Amino acid sequence: MTPIPSNDAKWPEYGIEHVTCCPVCSVQERSLLHQGLEDRIFFSAPGRWNMYRCGGCGCAYLDPRPTLETIGLAYTRYYTHTTAKPNSSEDLTGLRGFRKKLANGYRNWRYGTQYQPASIFGVLAAFLIPGARHSIDIAFRFLPRTHSRSKVLDVGFGSGEFLSYARDAGWTAVGVDIDPEVLKNGRSKGFLVRHGGIEAYADEKESFDLITISHVIEHLHDPVNTLSQAYTLLKPGGILWLATPNIDSYGHARYGRHWRGLEPPRHLVVFNPKALRKLLSDLGFQQIRLISQASATRFLFAASERIKKGIDPYDERHHVPSWRAWLAVLATIGRLDKSEIINLTCMKPETP
Ligand SMILES: [Zn+2]
Repeated sequence: MTPIPSNDAKWPEYGIEHVTCCPVCSVQERSLLHQGLEDRIFFSAPGRWNMYRCGGCGCAYLDPRPTLETIGLAYTRYYTHTTAKPNSSEDLTGLRGFRKKLANGYRNWRYGTQYQPASIFGVLAAFLIPGARHSIDIAFRFLPRTHSRSKVLDVGFGSGEFLSYARDAGWTAVGVDIDPEVLKNGRSKGFLVRHGGIEAYADEKESFDLITISHVIEHLHDPVNTLSQAYTLLKPGGILWLATPNIDSYGHARYGRHWRGLEPPRHLVVFNPKALRKLLSDLGFQQIRLISQASATRFLFAASERIKKGIDPYDERHHVPSWRAWLAVLATIGRLDKSEIINLTCMKPETP
């Protein structure tokens, strides 16, 4: 396998801005964490980037960074991954077909979907194999069962996979995204979607039972503002679902500048669980709960191992040993604050 050459192109000077304080807590004190980072994920963004760790909250952030006006240059080869749909007719023979029947049986029982083919024995299988059950629950983002027309907003809905799951589970599902191609795809599937960030729904205060922001806040110039707006748009008692890479993870400790979660210069801020908890609590959220994401650990370790070796992190022809990832999965059972992804839910209180 040929190693991928280094990228010597520069980000345009007019499209760079300096960050004078931490985008999460506004503290100016900091230390250099990584110097001269490059886009080793999609190999599309020019430039070399420095990342600092905040002396106040411990989050990491780029300085300098691309401006809001030019950040689009970093997304020319960016893509969102999709998975096989529960209703698709492929792979219905043999073991894969049997597994799909079982998985659909659990989905239909837990989330009220109507997927076919399905077997009720899937419910039993799901409880006997908690890892498989957890993967399904993560895909559905642990949607509460709904008996009325509950409404969910997915910020940065990407492939629309979650919007589809939510609609199949009986929710009114709407989304917002900055990518025109993503919007076109969402509309072709019949979803009501808007262009931009969460502010595109500023006219719908206290309208949503659930807001999901999965792998988005690390891309934002002002993540605090987005989380604050999420609070405003939720109904009292509404739930926020968040997922974002964890700078305090075992993976970052092991792979350092090669860790997949850094993704310069698309990831402008990389959070840690303590800082995110404090931020959410300061915004008024309660009942902040971390959720395990074991499958993400396996993916991030494999991708980081490939980046370390100088090859495409998505090149699955290059096999990497998985025992380190499994050790990390085991280690995070008792230490979710060290997991690769900070995945959490929190609630807007019923009464302020
Ligand atoms: Zn900070």
